[in-house]
Amino acid sequence: YDTYSVIINSSKDLDNISKIGAIIDHYHNGNEVHILATKSQYKTILNSNVNIKKIDNKARQYYLELIEETRDSDNPMRDYHNYNELTEFLQNIASNYPSITNLTSIGQSVQGRELWVLEISDNPGVNEFEPEFRYIANMHGDETVGRELSVYLIDWLCSNYGLSDRATDLVNNTSIHIMPSMNPDGFELGQRNNANDVDLNRDFPDQFQDPNNFVNGRQPETRAVMEWSNQHNFVLSANMHTGALVVNYPFDGPNSGSYSACPDDDLFVDLALTYSENHQDMYTESPFSQGITNGAQWYALFGGLQDWSYLWTKAFDVTLEQNEVKWPNQNLLPGLWDENKEAMISYIERVHGPSVRGQVIDANSGLPILCSIIVEGNENVISNDAQNGDYYRLLTPNTYQITFNSIGYESQTQSITIGDSAVILNIQLVIDESLSLANIENFESQSFNSYNWQFSGNEDWQIDSISAEGLYSARSGNIGNNQLSEISVSIFNSEPSQISFYKKVSCENVGSQSGNYYDYLAFYIDGVEQEKWAGEIDWSFSTFPLSSGEHNLKWAFIKDQGVSSGQDATWIDFIVMPGNPSDFCDISSDGELNIIDVV
Ligand code: ZN
Repeated sequence: YDTYSVIINSSKDLDNISKIGAIIDHYHNGNEVHILATKSQYKTILNSNVNIKKIDNKARQYYLELIEETRDSDNPMRDYHNYNELTEFLQNIASNYPSITNLTSIGQSVQGRELWVLEISDNPGVNEFEPEFRYIANMHGDETVGRELSVYLIDWLCSNYGLSDRATDLVNNTSIHIMPSMNPDGFELGQRNNANDVDLNRDFPDQFQDPNNFVNGRQPETRAVMEWSNQHNFVLSANMHTGALVVNYPFDGPNSGSYSACPDDDLFVDLALTYSENHQDMYTESPFSQGITNGAQWYALFGGLQDWSYLWTKAFDVTLEQNEVKWPNQNLLPGLWDENKEAMISYIERVHGPSVRGQVIDANSGLPILCSIIVEGNENVISNDAQNGDYYRLLTPNTYQITFNSIGYESQTQSITIGDSAVILNIQLVIDESLSLANIENFESQSFNSYNWQFSGNEDWQIDSISAEGLYSARSGNIGNNQLSEISVSIFNSEPSQISFYKKVSCENVGSQSGNYYDYLAFYIDGVEQEKWAGEIDWSFSTFPLSSGEHNLKWAFIKDQGVSSGQDATWIDFIVMPGNPSDFCDISSDGELNIIDVV
């Protein structure tokens, strides 16, 4: 890739540049944009009547200069920490502050370098009743400021612990995870991409172009960050970049120049301002109003870390652009820390700011229960920590209706007014007695014997050890193209009621333009399709009304002639059958318990 300066006429130009595979870089100034393109991409852009010219890659030049000048010295890269020095720094911190740090490697880079993460907390390595916070820096190898600011921040937190109230409070009440370099190979090579020449900030699952939340086929650095994030409940996070001076927040797509608000837009504005207002000059000197911007409004990108974090891990993640020059002179680093220090600390502290938090337990047993936390009018549903039952829902000051849902429990809605700090709301959920009397098929018998299940199509459904509730569910058979796998049951419904179930889907998505369904799960009552689902849908509840009388209920996973995505399967669980428990043994579904059921 070479670096080019492009003068764009409209946001459409930006979309066209991304479409041909060139990378739009962070730098923007009025109509001028910097991009990374191959020779042939350059020619395509040139032919499309856009003003484009090759420019020097200053980061690369400075990198080569530093390497050359320090080749034989015992201080490689001068004030920058190369991989060996960064490793040594982190190991020294871990041995000097063992009671508040936990250094782990979450995987290896393409070239085998460790992907270090340092947790700083009063009980590191223990899942406490504390919000978890995450900083990731240097995912673009030649964007070096965040990498060094991470070093400063780690040093500040550790050396001030027990001395300054501010650092002590943060460390005692937060589990802070810092990854100084997600792309150590890129740094050593003096390049943006990883050693396989892949842009890691285009390699994550994406709601528009790649909605498969799986690690398969992704770069080792991306996989490591995905797996690590999935093992934690990060509440708030940020990833650090260089090349502009602004905070960028979700969503990052689909169209350049069009504001793409996510369900928590007001919160993200608040989070972005927390950084820009506390930075020495981002708020006033950024070319962006107030030093913040919506991602897509600036330029669309697909496969970025921030949207993935928000949509799939439920961490509120923003992209920090901390300095316009990517690889600034090493003697500017202390000044950059001065500029960013207050912003970086205040942003972590925001996890304790306006929000509702607490623990969700079973009213009877007192044990923590996994639960969904739903803010009325907001599609972003978060979960609590399964182990401790604690939850943290960041919000802006206002009054909210918040509902706590857990399978098998009566849901609970509370009205809460949030001011300028965290409000504590502990919840005790009561078992839903109507469900305990209902006919529930949850496949916990690890069989299909509880009801008179029938199979049809090419492969039978099977018991699977993932679940919406309990330990097991039913999973569609392993079918190929142009095949289907069906499961059905006949029931007798003594009075008008409903049928409810949980379903999970992981297959080819509906056509993004056509809206056509290719592979999908469908639900039928008496042979009539009620609804269908495709793509990546996590466990979610569906309810359909059911008239009295005898009915056939059928679920079918159906595949068309080509393309398989995700796990290429569908699941059902916790089916709340209509009728009362006496229907339970009515195997023949004739509305009576009689000798035919026994036969
Ligand atoms: Zn970047």
